[in-house]
Amino acid sequence: MPMSPYPVLCYSAGCSAPAVYKIAARWSDGVTHELKTYSLACAECLSKLFADAVKRRAACRLTVGETLDKPGIYELTRGARDRTLTRREDLEAAFS
Ligand SMILES: [Zn+2]
Repeated sequence: MPMSPYPVLCYSAGCSAPAVYKIAARWSDGVTHELKTYSLACAECLSKLFADAVKRRAACRLTVGETLDKPGIYELTRGARDRTLTRREDLEAAFS
């Protein structure tokens, strides 16, 4: 599968830096599991976008049987599948 030639950009308003982190939470309805992406962030906007994701996570209503973990920070690797992304719990702890 060819990789996109366009760089993935930070989601922060007004920021056009390439994203290097993915902020996402593991979601499940008991049958399927997926990583729900909240934001893609550059190193500079990471703390702000992570705090925003934590707020959005807190406001999220789940139906019976659904689970949603707290947001995590993953290193964004071009072309890598979600399950192979490296989680940065050290950064999550620093911003919590
Ligand atoms: Zn940014």
